[in-house]
Amino acid sequence: MNRRTLIRDALVVTPGEVLRTSVLIEGPKIAALDVPATVRADEEVRARGMVLLPGVIDPHVHFREPGLEHKEDLHSGSRAAAAGGVTTVLEMPNTRPPTTTVQLLHEKLARAAQKCLVNYGFFIAATPENLQELQKAKRTPGIKIFMGSSTGNLLVDDPKVLERIFAHTTLPIATHCEDEATIRRNRERLGPRLSVEDHSRVRDHEAALRSTQLALELAQRTQHRLHVLHVSTAQEVQLLAQHQGLVTAEVCPHHLFFNTRHYETLGTLVQVNPSIKTPQDNEALWRGLLQGHLQLVASDHAPHTWEEKQRPYPESPSGLPGVENLLPLLLDQVNRGRITLQQVALWTAEAPARVWDMVDKGRLAPGYDADLVLVDMNLSRQVRHENQYTRCGWTPWHGTTLQGWPVMTWVRGQKVFEKGRFDLRVRGAEVVFDHTRGGYWATQGGTSQAEG
Ligand SMILES: [Zn+2]
Repeated sequence: MNRRTLIRDALVVTPGEVLRTSVLIEGPKIAALDVPATVRADEEVRARGMVLLPGVIDPHVHFREPGLEHKEDLHSGSRAAAAGGVTTVLEMPNTRPPTTTVQLLHEKLARAAQKCLVNYGFFIAATPENLQELQKAKRTPGIKIFMGSSTGNLLVDDPKVLERIFAHTTLPIATHCEDEATIRRNRERLGPRLSVEDHSRVRDHEAALRSTQLALELAQRTQHRLHVLHVSTAQEVQLLAQHQGLVTAEVCPHHLFFNTRHYETLGTLVQVNPSIKTPQDNEALWRGLLQGHLQLVASDHAPHTWEEKQRPYPESPSGLPGVENLLPLLLDQVNRGRITLQQVALWTAEAPARVWDMVDKGRLAPGYDADLVLVDMNLSRQVRHENQYTRCGWTPWHGTTLQGWPVMTWVRGQKVFEKGRFDLRVRGAEVVFDHTRGGYWATQGGTSQAEG
């Protein structure tokens, strides 16, 4: 008999509306909403005054396993995710070795089955030589192409090679867009003595824009589905607005909240690729999100140790952790009246599920997986290095007070996190991707068919 959990009297964020009701979980599924008072369960959660959201799907994390486990691994990263209300992660392929073959992809999936506390999926990386692997791969959200900002065989910036990948593969493509030639030119122009502020001059607006432009052209020409990762400039938002129907895009909290002024106080802690830009870009990215030109928010959780980040620029690595603060940062904005709970559910659950064709994910509705997060919108807490669950043990948001925090997280009906305590026996499941669905734009009608 399936274990049943009944969550009573929460403010429940469904696709159609936000309503005070009860939710019944049966085994790994949401069985029903608005159940009669006589229904019994193995566990009852009195959630009056709390908000129940679909579990966050973070479609862009780097958990560093295999090969860089001193920064993070699938266990530590997924624990941080669970604490932050994130119930599903899609992990990036720039591990050691990089995920460039079907066999390496399956090895990662096997590791995750052993160690991952939340649900998981893994991207496969394009190289100039692995077209056949990209054609064979099935158990994956899609192909990651580093059009810039990578080294060795993961960097694919030759337009002919890019064209071949776009033309001869069917999996959705996700791109890191920063133009290498522009970056190189900027670096030469600025000379050898660089400070961290120069990071945004080396990886400038033009570098981002040129590369995104090329990706959009390729997608258009080959009619290939494209997702542009971590958009950082106003100009890209403008461009993306003209390519709806085929292309989707994401924005990260650090590009929404940080700008070049923050180098003064945070230095290399906010050194990230693409670089942080200007306050005007922050505003344009928020507008892009609110107007639907950017479809989702992802953390790009990219942990490096404190020692690594303290090296003098440019020896300091780019990237910052964020998986456990993604949801609180957005909930705080709800409390400030800038966004709504339904927008949070759309950008962090429904949209990523639709972009990547996930089966039974992303909505708080009967029949969907019971990936859920209960949040206390009144809980105010300061983000602190020492409270982070990520192995790297620091956060660029240290000292920031946020209002609205996860208090309980369920992964497929299993309570994995409750007020600072974990059930470390819980394991997530491999996400099922059904790419015949056609992605975000093809499933648009689904939004209005709200259950319950
Ligand atoms: Zn990334």
